Amino acid sequence: MHILRAAWLVAPDRLVADARVAIDGDRIAAIESDATHRIDNDPAASLHSQNRISPSKILLPGLINAHTHLEQTFMRGYSANRALLDWLKNYIWKLQAAMTVEDVRLACMLGMIEALRGGATTIIHHFKLPISPAHTDAVLQTAEQIGVRLVLARAWNDRGAHAEPPQAILDDFERLFTEWHGSANGRITIANGPITPWRCSPEMLRRTTELARRHGAPTVCHVSETQDEVALTLEETGHRPIEWLDELGVLGPDFHAIHGVWLSDRECEMLAQRGVTVVHCPAANMILASGVAPVTDLLRRGVNVALGTDGPASNDGQDMIEAMRLAAYLARVTTLDAQALPPRQVIDLATTNGARALAVANIGRLQPGAKADVVALDLNAVHIQPIGDPLASIVYNARGSDVDTVIIDGRVLIADKRVQVIDEAALLDECRDRAAHLARRAGIVP
Ligand SMILES: [Zn+2]
Repeated sequence: MHILRAAWLVAPDRLVADARVAIDGDRIAAIESDATHRIDNDPAASLHSQNRISPSKILLPGLINAHTHLEQTFMRGYSANRALLDWLKNYIWKLQAAMTVEDVRLACMLGMIEALRGGATTIIHHFKLPISPAHTDAVLQTAEQIGVRLVLARAWNDRGAHAEPPQAILDDFERLFTEWHGSANGRITIANGPITPWRCSPEMLRRTTELARRHGAPTVCHVSETQDEVALTLEETGHRPIEWLDELGVLGPDFHAIHGVWLSDRECEMLAQRGVTVVHCPAANMILASGVAPVTDLLRRGVNVALGTDGPASNDGQDMIEAMRLAAYLARVTTLDAQALPPRQVIDLATTNGARALAVANIGRLQPGAKADVVALDLNAVHIQPIGDPLASIVYNARGSDVDTVIIDGRVLIADKRVQVIDEAALLDECRDRAAHLARRAGIVP
């Protein structure tokens, strides 16, 4: 039994002061405030306690990054001054096409470590490079090795650039669901990842969604990130993208509309009625000048909104604590309401709402019986102290670099700000070398 102690703990409905958490295997066994001493009275807990965290810490549920593309760590820096479609066609797609299995393994490992350092324990990785089963397996093996909780949304498109034959997509899904779904003590799952409605055929959108539903897996899709994309779908189908997806019967509580920036009033209502999750990626929306998702309006209508960083190439990072702060700022400046998206609600986006999107109740919350996915922030820093409101400190003061401890499934992956599972310095050296070769091979740099 591990015992963690902290000045505060963020529980689903309250803030626990002088908190103690008992972790038994992969689960949280008990949470107490110091006043009750229940854990102290458990002789087994006192005898075997370890990994104690000093009371200058705050414990929060491991954050759920509801949308990213981890392989893009090797594509950082190209998004500056470029609109979405120019950036995709002239940089990202070329680099993706040139990635070897080893490039993918290292790029995703770098992304996973960065995600952990930014407070994420669950990552929905929309993987755009299923060039071969070996590429996909390299990512899944890396997740297994590092110990992150990974939802690999196998991306696909059967129309336009880099289209795959429909049967190849379906066969690969069958293979992934059979070989990987629910593996690594349930930490690894597979999801359906159509890239965008305008690059996927109606028939395949239907078939893959049905296939995912049979396996209890979600379907995640970039929807209405830019005005150009809305125009494309409107021109081709006569419907706006959400209306079109509803027409196809794919919207439901298992559907994640990634971005959802340009939504009509009718589309917002449809999302609420169908129980769809909108994944808000504030940094990417700002950096690519896409626009701002109507988050407060969606929440008011009862739409589940989760939070993502998006890929490291359009962010340019994986820091979920920063994503929380940016979500709060954007909500304020677009509504001109200083009360919009208060700290508790922002934390919910990154925790319980992410869990709801995945239809799992045992992550995203610190409570007895839940998975032991825990993050500790070190509060003893000049940009945090003195603390007025601990929840506000998390959202407005903390940074990814304040993440002190990360535990997933009861296993300590980061302790005292040091990665425990790999040699981080060696990884950085390898990635620098590999990424430089990749850019030359792809013709991005001479
Ligand atoms: Zn994306």
